[in-house]
Amino acid sequence: MSSQADKVKVKKEIAHLRQELNRHNRLYYVLTEPEISDQAYDELYTRLRELEAQHPKLVTEDSPTQRVGGEALKGFVSVRHTEPMLSLDNTYSEDELAGWDERVRKALPGEVVRYSVELKIDGIAIAVKYKDRKFSQGVTRGDGADGDDVTENIKTLKSLPWCLAASAPQGSVEVRGEVFLPKQAFAKLNEQKQETGEKPFANPRNAAAGSLKLLDPKITAQRPLAIFLYAVDSGTARQLGTQTKILNTLTKWGLPANSNHCACKDIGEVRKFLQAWDRKRHGLPYEIDGLVIKVEDIEQQKRLGATSKSPRWAIAYKYAAEQARTRLKRITVQVGRTGVLTPVAELEPVLLAGSTIARATLHNEDNIVSKKIYEGDQVVIEKAGEIIPQVVMPVIERQGPVTFKMPKQCPVCGSRVVRLEGEVAHRCMNPGCLAQVKGRIRHFSQRNAMDIEGLGEALVDILVEKGLVQDYADLYILTAEQLIPLERLAQKSAENLIAGLDQSKQRTLGRLIFALGIPQVGEHAGEVLAAHYPDLKALAKAPVEEMQDIHEIGPKVARSLQDFFNHSETKAIIAKLEKAKVNTKQLPGEARQEGELTGKMFVFTGELTIYTRNQAESRVKALGGRAAGSVSKKTDFVVAGPGAGSKLEKAKKLGVKVITEQEFKKMLKE
Ligand code: NAD
Repeated sequence: MSSQADKVKVKKEIAHLRQELNRHNRLYYVLTEPEISDQAYDELYTRLRELEAQHPKLVTEDSPTQRVGGEALKGFVSVRHTEPMLSLDNTYSEDELAGWDERVRKALPGEVVRYSVELKIDGIAIAVKYKDRKFSQGVTRGDGADGDDVTENIKTLKSLPWCLAASAPQGSVEVRGEVFLPKQAFAKLNEQKQETGEKPFANPRNAAAGSLKLLDPKITAQRPLAIFLYAVDSGTARQLGTQTKILNTLTKWGLPANSNHCACKDIGEVRKFLQAWDRKRHGLPYEIDGLVIKVEDIEQQKRLGATSKSPRWAIAYKYAAEQARTRLKRITVQVGRTGVLTPVAELEPVLLAGSTIARATLHNEDNIVSKKIYEGDQVVIEKAGEIIPQVVMPVIERQGPVTFKMPKQCPVCGSRVVRLEGEVAHRCMNPGCLAQVKGRIRHFSQRNAMDIEGLGEALVDILVEKGLVQDYADLYILTAEQLIPLERLAQKSAENLIAGLDQSKQRTLGRLIFALGIPQVGEHAGEVLAAHYPDLKALAKAPVEEMQDIHEIGPKVARSLQDFFNHSETKAIIAKLEKAKVNTKQLPGEARQEGELTGKMFVFTGELTIYTRNQAESRVKALGGRAAGSVSKKTDFVVAGPGAGSKLEKAKKLGVKVITEQEFKKMLKE
């Protein structure tokens, strides 16, 4: 292959990896609903890092390798961290750990390097401030530079003291640690969720993150969150001198620090500690996903410094997801709300990481073909981050073609199955297919869409199978009299559902747009569209060109919206929703703000020092303007900081006005 063709291939792979990692970051940090295991995520990440190391010119500042993964949430006040809250570099291999030790010692030639090893608590990072020994604030890591003020939620943590011991210093002290949900509390919470028909949390870490994100601290208070502290602000750290001293001092101040840590004289001792905990970890009442190895001496830590994403003086050694072997009895096929057919492995039940597994996903036909998976064979299964089990590979690889074929007819409705060009998925093309109808109703009623209380999965199945609802709009004409005779439904539950349906009529326009289940339109796109259109009618009539001009709505989404609203069935469903008095209009606060920057398009490039990129973009939006990622003729201002490159060049070429961050600040009148 020519080198030009090689370059194009690498660029394509990098772009694909970034897109996938960004998608998984959003699923993981924002929606707390990961689709893949941490290890699978880390493999994609490592591949991207390798490619970027081989082609440094292709590294961009917005690459997932250059940023801490989270982002600020809506509904909380954003707070700038006094010192960045970074992520940790990680490895699953002892050899790589030895490589890290070598790099550390090379950077500190001739010096004795000792390590502190701690448990890596599987929760979410939090910064807690004390003023004159009194608790004053709790902030999440966010994107590392800015976090969310979750003080009210942190106040509900029983193990966090309100006042520090007299040995703690006066003035401001910041401590950092991990908020987590103990294993038992996690199991109980998920049990409750299943009972009420809600989607369970994928793992304790997601449950902790989800609980801290709640806007109502009363609900957070019902979740027995706990905390372990492991860090102090850099001034205090310097005075204390070593990581072990920090951990011991936190305990002396009355703060919960985990007692399972060890000061090691070299990497050999570190390894022994790792091996011992590989067995012991299962007996802990909380989940750990590995250990954290830190350079013990704070002064050495300072000299080693950090990259934009993680400190060079620490590394996480992660335990690989647990695997088990079993027989794949047969492959069945499930149909989802968009008609996608998913092959499912029906397994000889096997115990894996504490639960019995009888089914695992096989994703799609290509996956089965590439892994050479046959019915009747022994296979290796793994829990994705202790979440959804999946088939990793057959125990013994067979030769010859795979026998499994996706059915030509939908296993639920019998209509034709097609594989659209460029897609891995096979789809049932009949929108009336019962599996799709049920899937759409589940999507419509889920927590982040219309949030219909009392409507669990089993009830959706019954309602559809008995012909009481044909689409989600039919839910609103259900009566308690129709519901009570249904199996398993007591009068109270029927009344609850009717009340839940009634309440859901008042959801925002953004949620409604998401709930409609339009292909390509997720939660965020729903909000963006609701900010631009006063009601559903206006959105339904909007021309494609107008929609794709909206920042964050691409041509693909715009076309999908138009196709959806042009459908005669959609029109009938919307008429039913309106008749049932479901809100189809912008609610207060949803509309795009009109202000001094209305109609103006901004692009930020280079390093910003006054605002973070997120802050700058939100300021623009708050004043009615728009922020885009690339420069075009439509751009009104490029705000360029030090290090600006190709975007600045393009702005000059197109004659777009370039301003400094200071000038931008003046425009905001701040
Ligand atoms: P991380 O969880 O790998 O490690 C950093 C975090 O460890 C710190 O922020 C801190 O919160 C925590 N920690 C726990 N105990 C600690 C201790 N004793 N000392 C210091 N820190 C401690 O990094 P991250 O940035 O929070 O998350 C990135 C990782 O999350 C990825 O490597 C991947 O494994 C996972 N992830 C998975 C998906 C997915 O789709 N499955 C998506 C995104 C990220």
